[in-house]
Amino acid sequence: MQITGSLEAIADAALERDEIAWDFVEGVTTEVGPRQAGTEAETRGRVWAVEWLTKHGFQNVADEPFEMDTWVPGDIAKAHVTGPFPQELVVQPLGNSAATPDGGLEAEVVFFRTVAELRAAPAGSLKGKIAYISHEMRRAQDGSHYGFAGPARWVAPGFASQRGAVAVVIKSVGTDYHRNPHTGGTSWGDESSPIPAGALSVPDAENLERMFERAGDRPITMKLEMNPRRIGKQTSGNVVGEIVGRNPDLPPVLLACHLDSWWNAPGAFDDGAGCGIIAAAALNVAASGQPLRTIRVLFAGAEEVGLFGSTAYSKAHIDEPIAVGLESDFGADRIWRFESNFRESNPDLHAKLASSVARFGVANSRIVASGGADLNIVRDQKGAIIDLQQDGTRYFDLHHTPDDTLDKIDKAQLRQNVAVWTQVAGILANEERAIKTGRAIPSAPATMGE
Ligand code: ZN
Ligand code: ZN
Repeated sequence: MQITGSLEAIADAALERDEIAWDFVEGVTTEVGPRQAGTEAETRGRVWAVEWLTKHGFQNVADEPFEMDTWVPGDIAKAHVTGPFPQELVVQPLGNSAATPDGGLEAEVVFFRTVAELRAAPAGSLKGKIAYISHEMRRAQDGSHYGFAGPARWVAPGFASQRGAVAVVIKSVGTDYHRNPHTGGTSWGDESSPIPAGALSVPDAENLERMFERAGDRPITMKLEMNPRRIGKQTSGNVVGEIVGRNPDLPPVLLACHLDSWWNAPGAFDDGAGCGIIAAAALNVAASGQPLRTIRVLFAGAEEVGLFGSTAYSKAHIDEPIAVGLESDFGADRIWRFESNFRESNPDLHAKLASSVARFGVANSRIVASGGADLNIVRDQKGAIIDLQQDGTRYFDLHHTPDDTLDKIDKAQLRQNVAVWTQVAGILANEERAIKTGRAIPSAPATMGE
C-alpha cells in the first residue's frame, strides 16, 4: 500500500514498512529469473518491467531497443584434473570466453600467483599451456578489493592469450566458500584473440593450488571443455518510466539500475534490488506531491556484458540535459555513506542532502562521486552525480553466482535503502536551482551543462 504524507514522513515510513522495492525484486526473480542480455529471457524481463512500471503509475513507460553483439554460455562447462591427482573441479565460463574444441582440450597448467606475475611471463612462454591465475580477494565494506582482484578476470585472460596459452582458468573473483564459480565479463581487447576462459569456485581453486604444492616436479594437467558461442547481433533494450514533474522543461533527475543478469544468477542483489529501490523511491516522492522536476527511472539493459545499455542510452539522449544522476547497483544492504560531485560547486545542496539522511545512519563524505556503470549519459554531459554507497561486505559472496537469490535480501536493509533514496530523490526533484552549480536556472529553456 502506498504511504502518503510529507517527504520526510514518507521516507521515515518507508524505513518501517516499504513493500514496493521488495515487490519488484520478488517479482522479477520469481516471474522472470536469470535474464542474460540479448536472450529471450532478457526480453521477458523487459516486458515484465514495462508492465510493472505501468501498473504502478509511471508515465511515459517505454522499452528503447538497441542491437548488440551477443555471447551465450552454452551448456557444457567441465574442468577435470587428469594428473597427478585426477578429479573434477567446478568451473563456469567467463563472458566472452571462446569454446574449446568438441570433446575438450587437455594441457599442462601453469600457476600464476598474481596478474603481475602473468604479465612478466615472456611472449610464447605459455604456448600449448593452460594458465591458472590466483589472487586473494577479501571482503570490504566499500567493495574496494574488487579493484585489486578484478583484473584477474577483466584482463588477465587476454594476457594469457597473448603469451600463447590455449586456455585460462582463474580463481573466482568472489569472497564466498560455496562451490559456485563467479562468472563475469572478460575483455580481450584488440591485441589478444579469445581463448577458452573459465572461473573455478574458490574451494576448487584452492584445491588446485594445494595440488601444485603437493605435486613436486610432476606437472598438473587439466582437461577443459566449454561450449560458449557468439550468436551475432541481438536486440536488447533500456526500459524507462517517469514521474512527470510540475515543470517538465527542467532537466530531470535520473535514477538508474540494470535489469539484466548473468545466465547463472537470478539477480536479486545484482541488480533486481537496485531497480526495486529506485522505483520505490520515485513512487514515494510522487506520493508526497507532484515534484517540480521529472524523475526518470532507467532500467538499463545489457550492463553485465559490456555496458551496452548505458552507452546506447547516452547516445540516444545526449542532447537532453540531466539535472543529476544516481545509480543503485551494489546489492541490497544498507547505505552508509553519501557522496556527491558538487560538494564544492554547490555546498549548500550537498550539505542539505547529507544532513537529511543522517537520521538513517548515512555518513557525509568528501569523496567525489563518480557514478555507476549505467550513468554514462551523466558523465558524458559532465553533470551532477550522487553515490549512495551501500555496505558491500556480502556483495562478492553472491555476485554473478547462482546464490544471488531473493532469500539473501534483508528486508530491513532494503527498506533503509528505499528511505534514503526517497529522501534524496525528493529533495533533488524539488530543487529549483541548478544542481551541479547552485545557480538560478534561467526561465528560458534549460540548457546543457547544468
Ligand atoms: Zn550490477
Ligand atoms: Zn554484475
